[in-house]
Amino acid sequence: MTVKHQQPAQQFDPLATEPGTAAAILAHTGVLLVALDPEGRVVYFNNACETATGYDRGEVIGEFVWDRLLLPEQVDEVKAVFDELVQKPVPNENENYWLTKDGRRICVHWFNSSIREDNGRVRWIIGAGLDITGKKRAQREIEEHAARLHAVVQTAIEGIVTIDTEGIIESINPAAERLFGYDAQEAIGRNVKILMPSPYREEHDRYIKNYLRTGEAKVIGSGRELMGLRRDGSTFPMELGLSEVLLPDRRLFTGVIRDTSERRLSEKRERERLAEHAHAARLAALGEMASGIAHELNQPLTAIVSFADACQNLFKKDKIPEDVIGDALSQISEQGIRAGNIIRRLRQFVKTGALDREIVHLNAVIKDVLAMVSHEIHMNEVDVKLHLGKHLPGVWADQLQVEQVVLNLVWNAIEATEASDLRQLDIETCKHDDTLLVKISDTGCGFTDDMTNLFTAFYTTKENGTGLGLSISHRIIEAHDGVLSATSNAAGGATFSFTLPIMEAMY
Ligand code: ADP
Repeated sequence: MTVKHQQPAQQFDPLATEPGTAAAILAHTGVLLVALDPEGRVVYFNNACETATGYDRGEVIGEFVWDRLLLPEQVDEVKAVFDELVQKPVPNENENYWLTKDGRRICVHWFNSSIREDNGRVRWIIGAGLDITGKKRAQREIEEHAARLHAVVQTAIEGIVTIDTEGIIESINPAAERLFGYDAQEAIGRNVKILMPSPYREEHDRYIKNYLRTGEAKVIGSGRELMGLRRDGSTFPMELGLSEVLLPDRRLFTGVIRDTSERRLSEKRERERLAEHAHAARLAALGEMASGIAHELNQPLTAIVSFADACQNLFKKDKIPEDVIGDALSQISEQGIRAGNIIRRLRQFVKTGALDREIVHLNAVIKDVLAMVSHEIHMNEVDVKLHLGKHLPGVWADQLQVEQVVLNLVWNAIEATEASDLRQLDIETCKHDDTLLVKISDTGCGFTDDMTNLFTAFYTTKENGTGLGLSISHRIIEAHDGVLSATSNAAGGATFSFTLPIMEAMY
């Protein structure tokens, strides 16, 4: 069998076969075409050269190119390129400026070659050039912009970290290095999760994936308070501003981080100061009330004592004046009733006002309260676990008062865990017979005393406690026909539970 070898197609070269074609094409391309004699005098200067420089070819032909068109400081450099071409028949490239007739500079990228006699002597040096002034300027602007941006990022007091869509760190500025305790080389290429403590660390991958899939961002474009993790394992509160950078071929996320420890600390100090004031004010009010009560009770008590003394004296007489003793005894009884009224009025005063009932959803109350104390939860690094029952009916209650109870219990639980290694809070809601049950369990210090006085007013084991929180909570729950109770956890810590009746109509 014979195999036919296909001949390569004959190439047709119009530039070689049609004289003048090359020049005609080049005339339309905007390519600068210049030919020099072996000494460097211009012998050819095409239309594009005229347009670019503003010179007529008549003004340039016969002139040395370096005298007419080059910047004085570039003459040596260009002459070296020229000499190289004269010496060796190897095309080369260079970039240099030309000075136009009106004094502007244009930057040209040259492709240079030589045309030689048969004996190898140079006949012409040909330069084909592209005016890259615009490109150069754009490039310089980009470089300047990048340099400015770099300087801003490097000197910013905020930490700046960029990551790709996989969460891999692409850059980290000096402020972020200081904040997190990592060198840039160490951090770059690693997942940004190294800068986050739990639970953010676990959620982060899922969060990015979810965002890329749905475009729904919870934090992009908005500031967010969360915790940062340093290289040494310690954590600090921070504010994070995230933005997305859309590059032509990929996306980046930029995080701007501000350490808020100082601010948090001064806010905490401020709150403590306020709490101290409030405490002092409460004590002062209690003191005032106590002296008021003492004053008011003193009068009927003094009267009772003096009427009783008078009676005793009357009994010593030979003839006992029964009517006078009768008067005195009825005075004693009247004064006793007056004292009783004073005490009843006082109880009325202390009693919670009338209940302002509405349908209350306990899960929502719990979430609201947690939002109120989110700062303390963060600062004390308490891990809150919610076990909230689904589709629970509402209760018919005074929303504000129930909130107050939950706030008291959660607050106590946070305080109780302050000195614990494990700081956990479990909050559970469920239906229990015809009531809703709320359980707030902590891993705190537990009860130091026996628990008999827990719900008694003014019972406190805290240096700055008032001992009113639990007694008020107890009264509120009782007023709602519920029950508030406390138990010690087997593993340490305390559990407070309360029930609130579900209304018949709501089952
Ligand atoms: P206060 O918090 O001002 O002392 P409370 O009436 O709220 O007043 O609490 C009374 C006392 O009950 C506290 O001082 C503390 O001894 C105890 N207590 C309350 N909650 C807890 C808890 N979660 N764990 C341990 N003890 C608690």
